[in-house]
Amino acid sequence: MPELPDITIYLEALEERILNQPLQHIRISSPFLLRTAVPPIGVAQQKRVVKIRRVGKRIALGLEAELWLVLHLMITGRLHWREPGAKLARKLGLAAFDFPNGTLLLTEAGTKKRASLHLVEGEEALSRLDPGGLEVLDAALEAFATVLTSRNHTLKRALTDPALFSGIGNSYSDEILHHAHLSPVALTQKLNPEQIGRLYESAQGVLREWIVRLRDENGAAFPENVTAFRREMAVHGRFGQSCPVCGSIVQRIRYAENETNYCPTCQTGGRLLADRSLSLLLKKDWPKTPEALEQFRAVRRR
Ligand SMILES: [Zn+2]
Repeated sequence: MPELPDITIYLEALEERILNQPLQHIRISSPFLLRTAVPPIGVAQQKRVVKIRRVGKRIALGLEAELWLVLHLMITGRLHWREPGAKLARKLGLAAFDFPNGTLLLTEAGTKKRASLHLVEGEEALSRLDPGGLEVLDAALEAFATVLTSRNHTLKRALTDPALFSGIGNSYSDEILHHAHLSPVALTQKLNPEQIGRLYESAQGVLREWIVRLRDENGAAFPENVTAFRREMAVHGRFGQSCPVCGSIVQRIRYAENETNYCPTCQTGGRLLADRSLSLLLKKDWPKTPEALEQFRAVRRR
């Protein structure tokens, strides 16, 4: 799912292209996309884009007459910039937003259509679409610490809770925790002030570093290569590869739809965290060290 750094780059590319441009026409091809009926989508046409903003992981296009078009890309939704009047791809195309200088296309890969579009009127209606998480890049340490320790959650859960922190998801939470040398399953209320300070510095540092990296990589082009998995990431999406800091094998905790990746040496004092699918199989014999796990996997492969 595009997270804060990816959305930031989208916003910058959109500002370049559609700020102050009139939205001439909206074409929607998926019956599942639009989640609001009032105001009717037609009223957004022929309005100029006057503001562009990130709301959590959503992209909000502010139009004249206090209207907000709010896009949530979910996991596989992506934006593309094409020539004026560009056609919508039959299977992937969800919507097209026509401007005099080009067309903004919204596509979504896969069969589960989860991306959403809301049209709302006024700031208050817009704020109802905001899960309310803290903007980490604008927050002082004290505010960060207060939010972090407001409930006793694992760090992974706390960082990815949109009601606690804005715009951070599975990818960047893995990267932030690795950078901070903290375990994804450490409990927020058990952290000492030094660890909280480290997490705060890492959250700001990792998000800023990635914004700069993505901006540089992208240059003046429209961001077409938005992905949750990037070669330069330290642990996210790198299960089985070596940690760039210490060389240990990156491990994972799997869930139904995604996984948490971490380095046992950098983050958990060498301990492996239970991976449900493996631990069910092994029960009491759950390997305690990365070496034992490696051995176990090697035996199973034979
Ligand atoms: Zn490491």
